[in-house]
Amino acid sequence: MRNDRFYSLKKSDLQKFIDHLTKRLTVFAPVPDGRSCNYRKLAQGQRVIIDHCTNTEFPPKSVFLPEGEVLLEYGKGDRVSERTPDDRAAIFGIRPCDVHALLVLDKVMLGHDRVEPHYKKRRDNTLIIAVNCTRAGENCFCESMGTSGLEEGFDLLLTDQGNHFHVEAGSGKGEKLVSENRKLFTPARKEAKRPKLEYKKRIDTKNLPGIMMKMFNSGVWEDVAKRCGSCASCTFTCPTCYCFNLVHDADIGDLDKGKVVREMDYCMLPRFSRVAGNFVFREPRTERVKQFFYHKLVYGKRRDGKFHCVGCGRCITECMAHIDITEEAKKVRDVYEKR
Ligand code: SF4
Ligand code: SF4
Repeated sequence: MRNDRFYSLKKSDLQKFIDHLTKRLTVFAPVPDGRSCNYRKLAQGQRVIIDHCTNTEFPPKSVFLPEGEVLLEYGKGDRVSERTPDDRAAIFGIRPCDVHALLVLDKVMLGHDRVEPHYKKRRDNTLIIAVNCTRAGENCFCESMGTSGLEEGFDLLLTDQGNHFHVEAGSGKGEKLVSENRKLFTPARKEAKRPKLEYKKRIDTKNLPGIMMKMFNSGVWEDVAKRCGSCASCTFTCPTCYCFNLVHDADIGDLDKGKVVREMDYCMLPRFSRVAGNFVFREPRTERVKQFFYHKLVYGKRRDGKFHCVGCGRCITECMAHIDITEEAKKVRDVYEKR
């Protein structure tokens, strides 16, 4: 095992490192925000409190897939101008579950037969400075999903060791950051000890996709649908939900001009599956609920080899109907085993 990628950073030097980042890059970091934290652009000199929250209320995916974005503008003839993002950025303090969520998004946006160029540009231009958790949130169940630790997907990974952070460089870009800050980082020999976290929630994932496929017509989903209010908060806050709509926004005053806008869209909303002729092919709420649960616990795993649920617990926290993916997965397994 290589050990020249391990370093130590004194806690008292953390802010100096962050100041170095904010001088050069747009830096997003979790900032206390009401009952939780959210990723915000840091101002120069802004202090970061690293352990105020576990994960944030909203995931960091909007850094890569904004809620709405103009992809291109067009004019008379062949005049088309593409808008390509070119900000160099860093996400500081991203948790392991959310790094795994980015790896899921990579499979979708970069991994199949085509590459989404805006997403790729932002991924290439954004440093990932991750932090291992010291405690689990009320609704976290990352351990069950195999996403509580990181082997890849980060440039630097910080682990709290009391009075200092153990720092692992996971890429050449991470090594470069360390070498730009030689006075702050001292070489370390060992891998970090990750604290053992206590979880209140878990999912038994053994054979879960197979069981769920056999339970596709189970009454469990109708019961969830009766409680669901179709608010879409679960899909809105899920770090691996990536669906979007393309809107052609023509200039009413000059129909030769206009723009193409990408807007994120959510399968829990009836409008999501509306097609030409005003036909909505997932009108019954049960169908929409099933789409969400099967995407997270079945389809992603079967297609990409990775569950599209990373156990962040946000859909549980945000659901006004107290629908809990861990409870529903347990119910469906119980009903299956009692058949
Ligand atoms: S399904 Fe829920 S717990 Fe799983 S990744 Fe999405 S928001 Fe997090
Ligand atoms: S957050 Fe809850 S109520 Fe809202 S759409 Fe999702 S499951 Fe339904």
